[in-house]
Amino acid sequence: MKTVYTFGGDPVLGQDHSDPRQKDKTVSGGKGANLAEMASIGLPVPPGFTITTEECVKYLQEGADFSDDLRAQVAAALAHVEATVGKKFGDAGDPLLVSVRSGARVSMPGMMDTVLNLGLNDATVEGLATTSGDERFAWDSYRRFIQMYSDVVLGLDHGLFEEALEVAKEDKGYYADTEMEAEDWQALVGEYMGIVQQEQGAPFPQDVTEQLWGAIRAVFDSWDSDRAKVYRRLNDIPADWGTAVNVQAMVFGNMGDTSATGVAFTRDPATGERAYYGEYLINAQGEDVVAGIRTPQYLTRAAREKAGAKPLSMEEAMPEAYAELARVFDLLERHYKDMQDIEFTVERGKLWMLQTRSGKRTAKAALKMAVEMVGEGLIDERTAILRVDPMALDQLLHPTLDPKAPREVLTSGLPASPGAASGKIVLDADTAETFASRGDKVILVRVETSPEDIHGMHAAQGILTARGGMTSHAAVVARGMGRPCVSGASAVSIDRASKTLRIGNRELREGDVITIDGSNGQVMAGEVPTVEPELVGDFGTLMEWADAHRRMKVRTNAETPADCRMARQFGAEGIGLCRTEHMFFDARRIRAVRQMILAEDEKTRRAALAKLLPEQRADFREIFDVMSGLPCTIRLLDPPLHEFLPHADEDFAELADATGLGVDHLKRRAAELHEFNPMLGHRGCRLGITFPEIYEMQARAIFEAACEVAKAGGATPVPEIMVPLVATKRELELLKALIDRVAKQVFEETGCPVEYLVGTMIELPRAALMAGEIAQEGAFFSFGTNDLTQTTLGVSRDDSARFLAPYVEKGIFPRDPFVSLDIEGVGQLVELAAERGRATRPDIKLGICGEHGGDPASIAFCEKVGLDYVSASPYRVPIARLAAAQAAL
Ligand code: PEP
Ligand code: MG
Repeated sequence: MKTVYTFGGDPVLGQDHSDPRQKDKTVSGGKGANLAEMASIGLPVPPGFTITTEECVKYLQEGADFSDDLRAQVAAALAHVEATVGKKFGDAGDPLLVSVRSGARVSMPGMMDTVLNLGLNDATVEGLATTSGDERFAWDSYRRFIQMYSDVVLGLDHGLFEEALEVAKEDKGYYADTEMEAEDWQALVGEYMGIVQQEQGAPFPQDVTEQLWGAIRAVFDSWDSDRAKVYRRLNDIPADWGTAVNVQAMVFGNMGDTSATGVAFTRDPATGERAYYGEYLINAQGEDVVAGIRTPQYLTRAAREKAGAKPLSMEEAMPEAYAELARVFDLLERHYKDMQDIEFTVERGKLWMLQTRSGKRTAKAALKMAVEMVGEGLIDERTAILRVDPMALDQLLHPTLDPKAPREVLTSGLPASPGAASGKIVLDADTAETFASRGDKVILVRVETSPEDIHGMHAAQGILTARGGMTSHAAVVARGMGRPCVSGASAVSIDRASKTLRIGNRELREGDVITIDGSNGQVMAGEVPTVEPELVGDFGTLMEWADAHRRMKVRTNAETPADCRMARQFGAEGIGLCRTEHMFFDARRIRAVRQMILAEDEKTRRAALAKLLPEQRADFREIFDVMSGLPCTIRLLDPPLHEFLPHADEDFAELADATGLGVDHLKRRAAELHEFNPMLGHRGCRLGITFPEIYEMQARAIFEAACEVAKAGGATPVPEIMVPLVATKRELELLKALIDRVAKQVFEETGCPVEYLVGTMIELPRAALMAGEIAQEGAFFSFGTNDLTQTTLGVSRDDSARFLAPYVEKGIFPRDPFVSLDIEGVGQLVELAAERGRATRPDIKLGICGEHGGDPASIAFCEKVGLDYVSASPYRVPIARLAAAQAAL
């Protein structure tokens, strides 16, 4: 099989790039494929060849020596390069020099190895000096080569070579490398040779073919270097892809003042502006630009003037090469129909292209470019929709840390709710409220949060917890509120008594300022300045296009009118989940809820419920108003009981006051209600089955509110009542009968019937399996994939943070299954329940309201199984709109 492909050079010499494998990134790697592509559209690419990724995979698996076949293919390709360039590899008179670079399917910047100036030895260096007419350049190139080869291929410490260079400069009293003369470089080469001999007990290889194979081997090996492995893990890149190797004739940016090297983007990767953006250096080689040894200069005059910089831009210093470069930029953008990230070299006035690829960009730039390129006729709307990463929109929806600001990172936790916030540390919810009422910005820091902390979370700019995962109380509530949150930062230890906080060996006190970044989980000392989001212009345009191309509806998980309003602004088309227990977190209501839970008889319970009814009704009325005409799925009470039980003595004292019962009595009752495993305990519809009066009250509040709103005119309520944690058809049957009965009563009382639906969550494996039967009772299913994941995996959603990270690192799960749906496993249950539900009730409405409803990969799966809608927290609504459109395309 052909595994070596040549590219570049004079088309007249019969360059053939017609084999589709050559331009296939999976075969030739990104760099190889693009070099071939550039050569075939007539751009100036130094000739070379690509050894495919298959050879790398084979080499790493078999660990054997290279095959005769590969050696023969490489020899033939090298001969082709020699013929094209008119120089011979290893020729002492006029040597061909090559670069050897890696090139995986996707770019892995700086992760793998490169060797430049390969083919130099004690003889060819003299030839290079003669043909270039520049002795200094030849010896400088040789010492660079020895240094790079010794580091990358021979594995010697590059510090030894740098030290030798420093000593040489010191001896001569030089400050910069540029002061080194030809003889100085030559003497340094002698030093380097000594270092190599001493370190490896053998001389530096003089045989150029041996050099070439050494470099090829090193590039293959670098695929499995530690840093490449880490990068792969962080970027979900499979280990079995391997890297290609590109061997290419050298061109030199360091041949004097008519030579240069640079990197450039065809548009500004930070802002998206249509302006060339980049840097270049006169008389330098590629690594000088990246290594920061010399300060690179601006590409365009406009950029230089804007920065008020002195050294001439490329546009001014090399107008002809610059004009050629600008022509190439335009050609490349038109060809690839995307912003390109380019490396180039100018050798004695002639421009050479060394690389092009789609450039990485900020979310803001991605939006601007996508929208503008449609306007320019470069791409169509579909392409624009597909080009923006939905998750990147997150950067635009919350204030973000000023990327230019310095930061001192203290520790990291989970990026539980995006956005950045700074404020004074407070260790309890009441203090948060007190500080906030004085106008202070605060960060609430807790071991973990509970419903009693809600007011403090609300008062805070952000929340930091030491324990808890991505679906912990803090994470879910913070996302709902749009508060930044870092959860599970296990290095944080809190001492409530002394009001101090320890992070590693740093002690902080209440009132000290910290900053959290809920988009990456970082916790920083002091205040790091932020920048505000902008949601207009390109953002709005792209969203409109996305809406026109998606099939699924996007709803929101929200329970306060404020959240509902915000979600509508973000484009929500209904409420997919209104968690009514969250409506009880208010300090006053929680007392009534506790009375209800701790009640020992129906009468006391009803008395407590009677206090809650008007409050619930008022909430629902407001929600129906805000969401007029849009479906509102209201879930009946589903509290894991422990979230509501009082813990602190003052809570018991307060409750005793309110109920007239003794503290001891209440404590005994609370102890009776204690559950060993509350997540699998007396929650969800089990509460409704055992205490029907609770659901009765809620149903009444919903229907009374709907009737009031309908009567008042103006707004149209569309209630969908949802029963949680159903496992059997009978549960739903009993509770649906109860809801229908209350509806009938209220409609009779008010004389104002309202359309409504009763449906259920599918969040237990049994419910998924029995979906066919359950659909006889339920008009809709909403997949509660938080609990469905918890119960299918048998992994506690509140405790998993401690062990899921290593699980992901070891590849047991591709991603945290509480963040991105376990499609293989849990997904089967979703698919099966959807099928069985539809078989019973063809028009059944299907949606998802677990956290996965805001995750693009999970949304793509929902599209595949044909759900009608996804529901996500307000700030995730735009992400879901875009992801749903991408899934439909
Ligand atoms: C779920 O389980 O997925 C769900 C949405 O319900 P909750 O998170 O409130 O348990
Ligand atoms: Mg649930």
